[in-house]
Amino acid sequence: MKKIYEGKAKIVYATEDENRVIVFFKDSATAFDATKKAEIEGKGVINNTISSMLFEILNGSGIKTHYIKRLSDREMLVWKAKRFDLEVVVRNITAGSICRRLGMKEGIELKKPLVELFYKKDELHDPLICKSHALMLSLAEEEQIDRMENMALQVNEVLKGFFQACGIILVDFKLEFGILPDGEIAVIDEISPDTCRLWDAESKEKLDKDRFRFDLGNLMEGYKKVLERIQR
Ligand code: C5P
Repeated sequence: MKKIYEGKAKIVYATEDENRVIVFFKDSATAFDATKKAEIEGKGVINNTISSMLFEILNGSGIKTHYIKRLSDREMLVWKAKRFDLEVVVRNITAGSICRRLGMKEGIELKKPLVELFYKKDELHDPLICKSHALMLSLAEEEQIDRMENMALQVNEVLKGFFQACGIILVDFKLEFGILPDGEIAVIDEISPDTCRLWDAESKEKLDKDRFRFDLGNLMEGYKKVLERIQR
C-alpha cells in the first residue's frame, strides 16, 4: 500500500478507491511536542478499537465522521479528507493547558462546555488562537468554524453521556475536522485516550495519556480499563 502521510501515532495509506484511505495505528506515544517519546506495545491496537467504537457511536448519532469501518487490529477504513489545520478542544472540567494558561486549579467543573481553537502547526507548538486569527490565517471560512464548533459540542454531548454510563468522566478532548469527498465537514483523525482526558468517575484515577505525560502509572493499564468499560 502506498503511504500518503505518516504522523506521530498513525500512518495513512492509499487504497484502490481514491476517496478512501486506511489509517494504521502505531504503538508510538509522544508528548510535549514529541520531546518525550516511547513505544508502548499494543497501544495502537487499543486506540484503533476505542476510536472505532466511538466513531460508530457518533455516526449512529447522526454526527458526520470520516469513519467507514474497522479493518483489522490496527487499521481503520475512512473517507479521505481535506484536513483543516485546526484543533478543536472541548473542556468540561479544568485540566492541562487551561490550568497553566489561566492559573486555574485542576478539576473545576465548568458551568458550560468551553470550546477552544488551536492552530495545528508543530513549529509554533500548536498555539491557542481565536476565531479572528483562524479567519486571518485563512484556516477555514467563518461558517465552517461555526459548524466545527457546533459539531464539537454535539460530540461532547454524545460522548459525555456515553462515558458517564461507563463510569468515566469525559474531562476534555481534541477533535480534528476535514472536508470529505461529498463536500461535507466531518470529524476525522482519532478519538482515544491519546486525545481525551478520561477520569474514573469514583476514584478520579486518570485513565488517559496524562499517565504517560506525567509518569502517573502504566499507560496500557489505564487504556485497557477504558476499553473494558466501553465494551461492557
Ligand atoms: O493540553 P491541553 O489541556 O490543551 O489538551 C486538551 C485536550 O486535547 C486533552 O484531552 C489532550 O489530550 C488533547 N490534545 C490532543 N492533541 C494535542 C493537544 C491536545 O489530543 N495536540
